Amino acid sequence: MNVKQIYMDADAMLEGHFKLSSGNHSQYYLQSAKVLEDPKTAKLLADALADVIRNDGIEIDTVCAPALGGLIAGFALATALDKRSIFAERVNGEMQIRRGFEIKKGEKVLICEDIITTGGSAMEAAKAIEALGGIVVGFAALANRGFCKRSGSALERKQNCSLPDNKPLFALADFDFEMYAPENCPLCADGSEAIKPGSRGN
Ligand code: ZN
Repeated sequence: MNVKQIYMDADAMLEGHFKLSSGNHSQYYLQSAKVLEDPKTAKLLADALADVIRNDGIEIDTVCAPALGGLIAGFALATALDKRSIFAERVNGEMQIRRGFEIKKGEKVLICEDIITTGGSAMEAAKAIEALGGIVVGFAALANRGFCKRSGSALERKQNCSLPDNKPLFALADFDFEMYAPENCPLCADGSEAIKPGSRGN
């Protein structure tokens, strides 16, 4: 499966000068919502990701997605795996499990994002699950931005990956783009201004 082509076909791989949620800048931005607006594509990707996860043999009770980014991918993956689907959401900056969702002690939870960049939001969701007695068994995403180590990929983990190195990350592809701290961004140096997709009507 050519995940990059699927993103390009959906006009979901934007080229420009973008500010990512981590605060870093990039020439590319992946707009997964554009890919997932077609439920058939969402199902295709989630089924393929579920196969990767099933082949690993890992035990999962529940899929938990950090809102908003992971919601659709998480639900589609939980459907494909036939597991419970819940989400974590940010309240006053802190990721929490709300909506009456309960976590049993020892419940095995897979955290699912649309794209894993450094894994910051995924880790915040993982901490919220663990605070309630759940066990985070691994992480999943449609694609990995190339900072963390994807199960089965030769690409090495980089220093800014915040996911633990003793838990698997399942994803369908590595999208290995450069990312810059604002002070080192060559696009900023050229005089353009980074925009945050989603914040200006796009
Ligand atoms: Zn920049």
